[in-house]
Amino acid sequence: MPNPLKSLLVVSVMLVMAVPAEAFAYVRSITCGDPPNPFQCEAGETSKEIGWPSSCVVVHLNENGTGDVDFTELERVSPVALEVWSAPECSYFNLVYGGLTNEDRVGYNPNQTNANVLVFRDTNWSHRGGVLALTSVTFDRNSGTIVDADIEFNSQDFQFTSVSSAATTQIDLENTMVHELGHLVGLDHTPVEEATMFASAPEGEIKKRSLAQDDLDGYCAIYPIADLAQARSCKTTTVGYYQKPEGTSSGAGDDTGCQVLPLRNAPGTSLWWFGALLATGALLRRPRRSR
Ligand SMILES: [Zn+2]
Repeated sequence: MPNPLKSLLVVSVMLVMAVPAEAFAYVRSITCGDPPNPFQCEAGETSKEIGWPSSCVVVHLNENGTGDVDFTELERVSPVALEVWSAPECSYFNLVYGGLTNEDRVGYNPNQTNANVLVFRDTNWSHRGGVLALTSVTFDRNSGTIVDADIEFNSQDFQFTSVSSAATTQIDLENTMVHELGHLVGLDHTPVEEATMFASAPEGEIKKRSLAQDDLDGYCAIYPIADLAQARSCKTTTVGYYQKPEGTSSGAGDDTGCQVLPLRNAPGTSLWWFGALLATGALLRRPRRSR
């Protein structure tokens, strides 16, 4: 599997050389394409931009929380981060806080209780290291319609904090959550450094808590207020707690071939890495010159 960090850097460098600065802009997630997109287009397949068909999406918080941040603070920050994406007046789309759930599985479960979840992995982070958080978006590869999106936070390897001052924060929870929610709504990484959808975040950063113009441009291109009438109305039914089907446990059913190698007619799951650049920050720091 190609290193997404390397691929991102290459893409950025190429853009610098190929286009004038004012052409830099948001990037929408697509169903297939060249790396770092995990899915290459098959012969005859047309790449489509992905998005939700409804006017809102309900997002739940996993009841286990994290040892990093007080649960009451988690329950405060989660709706605040969702509201950041609901507030723009240029868009009809809303993210709705659905409260707590015992669902901790990632991916689309078409025949079971299904939820879009925010879940912390204090242990058993199963993805590549150096990644702050990861959003798994499941979509129909033919239409680009998103059917599920879940966000996992790597609280095993990183210390998340939630404080008002950038000076005292480590990995700011809200900063990270707002960025990941950008992937949930259908945005990819932008080359614009000031934007929330820029791919990396140094320790102490809080500027991604609010959207930059580039983020707004992208978001409102996907869900423009002018298209409100065409959007499917939103079911705001919450999942809450439920009896997990027998034989399933955390992560079970997520490792199907569909997720790794989707069939053309099957939903594909796209994984977005956040914070990959952070992992190499120490390596990029210039050594002090010896005298
Ligand atoms: Zn990202």
